[in-house]
Amino acid sequence: MTARRLGPGDRLLVATHNRGKLDEIAALLRPYGVTVTGAAELGLMEPEETEESFVGNARIKAHAAVAATGLPALADDSGIEVDALGGAPGVHTADWAETPTGRDFEQAMRRTWEALEAAHAPEPRRAAFRCTLVLAWPDFTDAVFEGRIDGRIVWPMRGVLGHGYDPIFQPDGHDLTFGEMDRWAKNRISHRADAFRKFVDGCL
Ligand code: IMP
Repeated sequence: MTARRLGPGDRLLVATHNRGKLDEIAALLRPYGVTVTGAAELGLMEPEETEESFVGNARIKAHAAVAATGLPALADDSGIEVDALGGAPGVHTADWAETPTGRDFEQAMRRTWEALEAAHAPEPRRAAFRCTLVLAWPDFTDAVFEGRIDGRIVWPMRGVLGHGYDPIFQPDGHDLTFGEMDRWAKNRISHRADAFRKFVDGCL
């Protein structure tokens, strides 16, 4: 891993068009004096995510942003891997929610459960949320930070909090699903928090 760090006065491009993610990252970096700019603000295109790994897709996004701007750029990719489905949906986590009229995560969760039923997968149905962050520097070297949380897929869905697949994921050591946890409880243990802790330790 590179020993280079970001500090007061540095500008970081966050390679996302998702306003929520941008605000979350900006808040995290504010205490370090790092100025955050979003990809949409600079009118950057979203590159196609053609890799079959989280790190591969995060690298595509981070390096495309550096190439377009010359600024250090941070990108993330995340999803859920289910053991009995050979790691699916994995990098296709969001795709499983696609419908002709937009994303439907209830459909994606049902599809996950149906695939497990079809595979006669025994309980517990092990799964992990993963988050990979890539920080790419203007000389195109990069640093990778991997976060994960292990748990199991439950059915039926439980809870209305959070987003995505939260209502069918019960983290190890907890009785609640992510969909039943408030955001503070989830943010203490989530794959994203794990990756960001490593990013802060390594780069700030
Ligand atoms: P991306 O990293 O924005 O491409 O997100 C990939 C997909 O993974 C999202 O659309 C979510 O459905 C799913 N995902 C990632 N993190 C979480 C989480 O914390 N809870 C539920 N779903 C998640």
